[in-house]
Order: sequence, then structure tokens, then C-alpha cells
Amino acid sequence: MAKTIKKIGVMTSGGDSPGMNAAIRSVVRACAYHNIECFGIYRGYEGMIEGDFVKMDARSVKGIINKGGTILKSARSKEFRTKEGREKAHQQLVKAGIEAFVVIGGDGSFTGAMIFNQEFNFPVMGIPGTIDNDIFGTTHTLGYDTALNTVVEVIDKIRDTASSHNRLFFVEVMGRDVGHIALNVGIGAGAEEILIPEEDLGLERLLESLRRSKKSGKSSSIVVVAEGDKIGKNVFELKDYVEENMTEYEVRVSVLGHMQRGGAPSCFDRVLASRMGVKAVESLIDGHSNFMVGLKNDVIDVTPFDQAVKGKSKINTELLRVSDIMSI
Ligand code: ATP
Repeated sequence: MAKTIKKIGVMTSGGDSPGMNAAIRSVVRACAYHNIECFGIYRGYEGMIEGDFVKMDARSVKGIINKGGTILKSARSKEFRTKEGREKAHQQLVKAGIEAFVVIGGDGSFTGAMIFNQEFNFPVMGIPGTIDNDIFGTTHTLGYDTALNTVVEVIDKIRDTASSHNRLFFVEVMGRDVGHIALNVGIGAGAEEILIPEEDLGLERLLESLRRSKKSGKSSSIVVVAEGDKIGKNVFELKDYVEENMTEYEVRVSVLGHMQRGGAPSCFDRVLASRMGVKAVESLIDGHSNFMVGLKNDVIDVTPFDQAVKGKSKINTELLRVSDIMSI
């Protein structure tokens, strides 16, 4: 029989993403529903070390489901990477009577949680919050769907100006290690080419494709480039390369940057966050720990932290073929 938990902490850690507030709301309300006290931990592990906690009830999370960012703030903590730092964090939790916590963040945050759990046998559950969708054990991380919609909307706007001036645009989107965002927005926004970390398209093929595009009568072209694309050239280098080799094109670059992380979460992310928060709290109540909550085949399931951290999130290769066919 699992020990009854009376106080649960919730925090956001690492980079922020839309849907984190909806997940905080869900954890707080699931706690209220099960008569468990809930404490917000400010600024991730940094705030945990400092004992920066606030008691939260169902009403303290009103009006946040539609807000981007995180009301609990997020941070990266160097001190938590040390044994002394984690000891301080543990002492603060014990002092406040917090017996378990839910961390909303990326794989770094889960690694920290896993080590903390091993050292202090402290119950912890994770909710994946990052726009990159680069976490194993879930088809969707919180914020990913919102980011896709944000980026598609921006590329639609870029296309308006591209087609008015017969221009070629290289649009850089987030995705250092995985091309989920680039691949999906590329197809969704009708890009001519999509450059991702998983595949080296080759510069020659890129030129060929752009020449073909021009010949077929297209007046403008959009190439979506993930930050970590395998060709290894950034968007400015790509612009120079294409301009040197294809004088018929006027090339422009747009680096979307942090705007991709902001904004109101999509309905999908709000629902996902609500489901994940409930699952995280109920897993702790059932005596489970050291798992990340995730979405698999539309079912909310759990994956052990070590698998979530070590595993690699893979792109859907069918999308590569679809993109090829669409850019004819
Ligand atoms: P993002 O996807 O936005 O990078 P993340 O959760 O991976 O999010 P990180 O900065 O890697 O972000 O990790 C967040 C925090 O987790 C770190 O600042 C640190 O406090 C803690 N952490 C990460 N790795 C470890 C580790 N090996 N040991 C202890 N704590 C860690």
C-alpha cells in the first residue's frame, strides 16, 4: 500500500513553452480534487533550493489556461547540478512538508529529477514541456502544437511578401536536434524545400530543386531550415551560396527565434496539459514515481525517466516523401 501523499509541489524548469500554465492549473486542480495540498515552486530548481514556495488552490490558477509562458517562472540552476545544491533543495521540501513534486520541463529537468529521486527516494513525476517535441515517450510535448500553428501563420505572411517580389526566403525555425517543427510547418505552409537535422539533402539537390521550381513557373519560394540542419550551413550562409549560384533569385532570410515559444496555447495543448496534469498527480497518489507522462496513440501513458532521457524522438519519415511530392 502506497504512503498517502498530503502535499505535492509543482514547478516549471528549463525553457518555457505554451501550455505550461495549463499544466500547472491541471496539477493544482487535480490536487484540490483529491484533497491534497499543492505548492507552487518558483523558478524551477533554483526556487526549490531557496524554498521559494507558494500555496496554491483551485482558485489561484484561474484565468491562466489561455496564457503563454509560466506563472511560476522558469530557470536553469547550476547549483542543482551539485550534490550540495540538491541537499539544500531536499531540506527545503522537507521543511515545507512537500512529499512529492511534478516537474514540467525538458530532458535536462527530468535528468535532475531522476538523480534527486535516486539520492533521496523522493517521489517525482514529469510532464514534457518544450516546443521542439524532442522527447522520447510522447508523440507531443506541451507547446509543440502551438509552435506549429504560430510558425505556419508567420510563414503564410512571409509568403505574401515573397510572392509580391519574386523572392526566395530561407526561414529558420527552432529544432537543434530534431526536425519536427521544420518538417511539419514546411508541409503546412507549402515550402519548396525543408532542411532538417536528420537528413543531408545536399547543396546540389537544393539548387536543383530551386531551379526546377523557377522553371515550373513558381514566382516565389520558401525554404524552411531547422536550426540544426544537417547540411551544416546557417540560413545566412545558405543565402550567400544560393545567390552565388543562382543569380536569378533575390534571396532573403528570416530567423524566427523566440517568438516561436510565445503566445496563447492552442486548444490541443490546453487539453493535453489538462490530461497530463491529472495523470501526473494520480500516478503519485497511486505510489508511482520517476516517470514522465506522455501521449501515445491518443492515450495518456507513462515512460520511465531514464528511457525518456536516453531515447530519441524520431521524425515521421512518411512526411519527407509527402513533402517531396508536394513541392513538384
Ligand atoms: P529545454 O528543453 O528547454 O532545454 P530542459 O529541462 O532540458 O529544457 P535544462 O537547462 O537542460 O533544460 O535543465 C533544466 C535544469 O535541470 C538545469 O538548469 C539543472 O538545474 C537541472 N539539470 C539538468 N541536468 C542535470 C543533471 N545532470 N543533474 C542535476 N540537475 C540537472
